[in-house]
Amino acid sequence: MSLSTQTVPKVVLKPRRALPFFSRHPWVFGNAVARIEPDDIPPGALVTLVSSKGEFIARGLFNPNSQIRVRLYSWDEADCLDEEFFAARLEAAINLRQELYGPPTDDSACRLVYSEADGLSGLIVDRYGDWLVVQFTSLALYERREMLIDLLSQQLRPSGIWLRTEKGVLESEGLTLSDGLLAGTEPPRPMFIEEHGIRYGIDLVEGQKTGFYLDQRENRLAVSRYLRGHRVLDMFCYSGGFSLAAIMKGNAKEVRAFDISESALHLARANAELNGVAPRIRFEKSNAYQALEQLAGEGEQFDTVMLDPPKLTRRRAGISQALKGYFSLNSLALGVLKPGGTLVSCSCSGLLGKSDFEQMLASVSLKSGRRIQILESRGAAPDHPTSVHCLENNYLKCAVCRVL
Ligand code: SAH
Repeated sequence: MSLSTQTVPKVVLKPRRALPFFSRHPWVFGNAVARIEPDDIPPGALVTLVSSKGEFIARGLFNPNSQIRVRLYSWDEADCLDEEFFAARLEAAINLRQELYGPPTDDSACRLVYSEADGLSGLIVDRYGDWLVVQFTSLALYERREMLIDLLSQQLRPSGIWLRTEKGVLESEGLTLSDGLLAGTEPPRPMFIEEHGIRYGIDLVEGQKTGFYLDQRENRLAVSRYLRGHRVLDMFCYSGGFSLAAIMKGNAKEVRAFDISESALHLARANAELNGVAPRIRFEKSNAYQALEQLAGEGEQFDTVMLDPPKLTRRRAGISQALKGYFSLNSLALGVLKPGGTLVSCSCSGLLGKSDFEQMLASVSLKSGRRIQILESRGAAPDHPTSVHCLENNYLKCAVCRVL
C-alpha cells in the first residue's frame, strides 16, 4: 500500500535541521521541530518528516510526551508502517540471529530484536528457549503491541511472551505499564539455558535486565582464554557468567566473586552448584568499592581482575561523574592485581564513547604508575548489533588489558 504524503500528518523541521535525518538518524528531538500539521495529532500517530522547504525525508511515529518527538522507521515514501512493514522488519531481525547462532533450541538464548539496530526503534525482544521477553521503549510501538505480539507469535510460535519494563525509560516516553504476561503461558522460574556448554538457571520475571546479560556472551568466552591457572576476582558478578566461564572454559584455578545484590548471588551460587564447580568459586555480598579496598588491605593479589559495573550514567550531565567512578574503580582494581596481571574492564554506559573510556584507562595508568596494554578491545555480542546511523547504541566496552 502506498500513501500520498498529503494524507499523513507532517512534522516540519526548523531550517538547517534536516541533515541528520536525510543521513538516516532515527531520533527527531523536539527542539528540531518547527511545527506539526495539523497540530492536534494523537500520540503514536504515523507522521511524515519534512524539511523546512517541504521535502519528504522519512516516515516515523509521533510522541508529543517524549524528547524524541518522532522515531523514524523508513526513508521510503511508499512505506506506511503497517503490519506488512513490521512483519518484514521482524523477519529480517529474526533471520539474522538464525544465521549467527543456528536454529533455536529449548535451552539457547539470544536477543532477536534490538531497537534501532534492527530498524525497530523502541522494541527489544530476547528469546530464552521457548519464551520471549519483550521490552517496549517507545509509546508508539507499545500502542501497536497487539499487532507486534501477533506477528512474533506467528513467526516464532513461543510458549509465552513476557513483558519487562525499565522505569527510567518508561518515564521518558510517558508510558505507564507494568511487567506481565502478554501471550501464552508464564515462563518457568527458574528456567535453564546453556551458553558455551555452561548451564544457567535464570529468572525472566525478576532477574536483572531481561534475565541474563546476553550482551557479554562472546566476551565471557574470549576472556576465559587468558585465565588458565589464574586466581580471578570477578567484581559485579551477577548470576556468575564470567566466574563460571573462567573455571569451566578457561581452567582458572579459583574465583572470588562479588555482587551487591542478594538475589543475584542466589542465582550465581545455584549456577555454580548446577555445573559442579561450587568449591572453586566463592561468592560474596559486598559493595565493589568497599570490597576492593578491603581486599587490598588484606594484601590480596589476583592474576586477573574483572570489572563489569552497571551503567554509571543515563544522562549527558552525568558523564564526568561517571568517568570519575570508572577511574576510581579501575584504580582500586590495580591495587589487587599482580604485576603482569590481566584487567578486564567493562563499561555499559552508552553515553561514554570508546575513546573516553580508553582515556580513563590512560589516566589510571599515569596515576598508578603501571603500564596498561589493551590486548583486546571488545563490544557487545553480534545479536546486539549497532546501526551505523545510530552509534549511540554502541554502548558496551570490554577492554582486556595486561597491566605491568
Ligand atoms: N558480569 C555480569 C553482569 C554484571 S551487571 C554477567 O556477566 O552476567 C552489574 C552487576 O553489578 C549487577 O549484578 C548488580 O547487582 C551489581 N552491582 C551494582 N552496583 C554494585 C556495587 N556498588 N557493588 C557491587 N555490585 C554492584
